[in-house]
Order: sequence, then structure tokens, then C-alpha cells
Amino acid sequence: MFYGCNVVNEGLRVKLYPDKVMRDKFNQSLGNARFVWNNLLTEYQETFELFKQHGYTKLKCNQTTFNTMLTMLKKQYPFLYKSESSSLQQVYRDLLQAFNGFFNNTSNYPKFKSKKNPKNGFRIQNNNNIKITNNTIVLPKLGKVHYRTSPQYKQLLKESKINNVTIKKEHNHYYAVFNIETEKRPMKKTGKTVGIDLGIRTLATLSNGLKITNLDTTHEDKMIKKYHRILSRKKYNSKRYNKTLKTLGKWIQRKNNRIKDAYHKLSHYLVKNYDIICMENLDIKELFQDTDLSSSLQSIAWRKLVDMIKYKCEWYDKKFIQINRWFASSKNCSQCGYYYKDLGDKKEWTCPNCQTHHDIDINAAKNIQNEGLNLLIDDPLVNLRNWGDSTAILLSWESTGP
Ligand SMILES: [Zn+2]
Repeated sequence: MFYGCNVVNEGLRVKLYPDKVMRDKFNQSLGNARFVWNNLLTEYQETFELFKQHGYTKLKCNQTTFNTMLTMLKKQYPFLYKSESSSLQQVYRDLLQAFNGFFNNTSNYPKFKSKKNPKNGFRIQNNNNIKITNNTIVLPKLGKVHYRTSPQYKQLLKESKINNVTIKKEHNHYYAVFNIETEKRPMKKTGKTVGIDLGIRTLATLSNGLKITNLDTTHEDKMIKKYHRILSRKKYNSKRYNKTLKTLGKWIQRKNNRIKDAYHKLSHYLVKNYDIICMENLDIKELFQDTDLSSSLQSIAWRKLVDMIKYKCEWYDKKFIQINRWFASSKNCSQCGYYYKDLGDKKEWTCPNCQTHHDIDINAAKNIQNEGLNLLIDDPLVNLRNWGDSTAILLSWESTGP
């Protein structure tokens, strides 16, 4: 390990090429995980109904209860023994987490899992029994499966500590997502800071005036729409239905991959070029959005991008600041602070006080940067010299690079 490195958990996804025997084993394990989830959920609901009749309004569950339920299920349904045992324990841990989210009001009530869902998975803990060679992965209880990935990823897989692996089936393709521990060297400090405003037409506007447009996925969207339409006219589970489903899945996958790739590049660029990255709190941003489907999809996309920037800042020793931007602040002049109440839906305006001409998105990004830096005044890690010129901020972070 290098001195000063950050040890981080990272997901590494590789494509699997299972033969017929292995596909059957995977499908059995996927089915078993779903079966256990649905059974435990039913069991819980029935128990809760009983408690309700006696006046209880809440029934919390814990690991021990679920573990006992699982043991009983296994005795009743011997096919569950075909699964690697940690993968079934993972099911009740996930269910428990889903329930905790529900009880804390952060997520909806857990849903039953359907075989029709094109995405399914099960997770195996690594107890030193996952073996990886150049072309194959050996999984406990399940055996050997071929995989393909880049030489860099192969090297990383061999060198890193593997915590667990999730086998995923997505639109009839199989993947393994390894949770590995890797080391990240901090990136070189640049002494620069940036505010970022997220938008719908322009994905990201930087406070230095740079605008990054949203990726054009018109072609993929058109094809997805087309195959959805064709699918709706086919008989469920017929040969033609499944063939169309496969093509549809391919287009969805292609769109997602392109977006993910673009986000990785953008987040990497930002973290490489700036030491302090200021963004707004999305919960507040979403409050002022329409609640139609396209804008909720936009929110999901924003969250993905923000998450990437956030964890990369942690990996590479940069600072990420999220601010609560109030609606009015897009009406404030980033130069002098003047409140321009007649903004309306203008795209550009000139400040009546200091005569600065503003593009609304760039002005918003500058305000986000200013507020982010305001929050940092008390931060002992940051030595603010020449306050007012944000690019001249001198960082006094200990240099930890080799
Ligand atoms: Zn002004």
C-alpha cells in the first residue's frame, strides 16, 4: 500500500459467458433468492395481520427472526440448498434494509419480486472461496464460469481484496459485479474551485462559463419507443415476444451505457481540474420541478452524476460541498448581490446596480460557488487568501502524494 492512499470500496462489473449448465444454476439461484424474498415478506405480513388484531400498529423485524424463518423454509423446500448459503442470508439482509427504509420514511413498503422483472440478482460473500483466473471465475457451490473484461480490470481483480460478488441477470445477459477494496492516490491539487448548476437543457453549467450539454440519446430513445410498441402487440412469452424483448433490452442497455460513460468522463474531468466542487442540494431543486415522468427521470440522472462526483472527491482527496440554494438566489447578482425580482423567464439580464451582464445559468453556478465558499470560511483545512477571488484560494492541505 502507498503512503497516503485512500482505501475505498469499488464496484467492478464484468460480463459473464455461462454455458447451459451454468445458466441453469444461475437461474435456480436467482429464482431461489426471489422465492426467499417473497416468502419472508408474506410471512411478515401474515404475522403483522395477526398482531394488528390485537391492537399493534407496528411490527419491527430483525435478523434473528428472518434467519429462523429461512432455516424453516430450507427444511420445507430442499431446492433452496442448491443456492450458495450466504446468497440466501443476503436476501433477508436486503429485506431488513428495505423495511428499515420504510420505517424511517425514506423508502416505500418492500414489494414482491416478479420473475418478469428483466433485472435480477443474488449476492455471494467471499469467504476466500471465490477464485479468479485470466478467463474464469470459480464461485462456491456453483462452479466455473467464463468472463471477459479489459486487461486493466483483470489485473485489478487479481490484486484487490474481494468482499463479495453479485451475479446479475439483465435482459438475458449475465454479469458479475465485484465489490473490491482498492487504493486511490490523491490527485494533484490545482488550487481551483468551481460551482456547478444542473439543468435540463444544459446538463451542467460551470461558474467559469463552461456549459456541458446533455448527451443526445434521440436515436436510442426512438428505438426503445419503437420496440416497446412492437412488444405490446406480441403474445406474452411467445418466441417473437422474447426476440423483441431481447432487442429492446439491447437498446436500453446501450443508452444506459452511453450515459454512464459520459458521466464518468465528466466527473473525472471535474475532480481532476478542481479542488473544491460546490453543487446544490437536489431535494430543494426538485421541489421547484414539475412532477411529470421526464423530470423525475432527470432527477434520477442528476443524482447519479452527483453521486459520482461525490465519491470521486472522496477517492482523490478533493472537497465536495453541497449547499442549500434557495429559489431566490438565481435572482441574485453574483457580482454585487443585488436582488433582481423581475427576472421572470429571461435567459439573460443586466444587473441594474453594477451593470454586469448575466447568463442565468452561469450566474446561478457563480452563486452556488459563492455560497459553497462561504460555508468553508470556518474550515481549518482551507486557508482563504485573497478572499473574493475564488480562483486564488490557496489550499493548505497536507500534500499526501508520493
Ligand atoms: Zn450586480
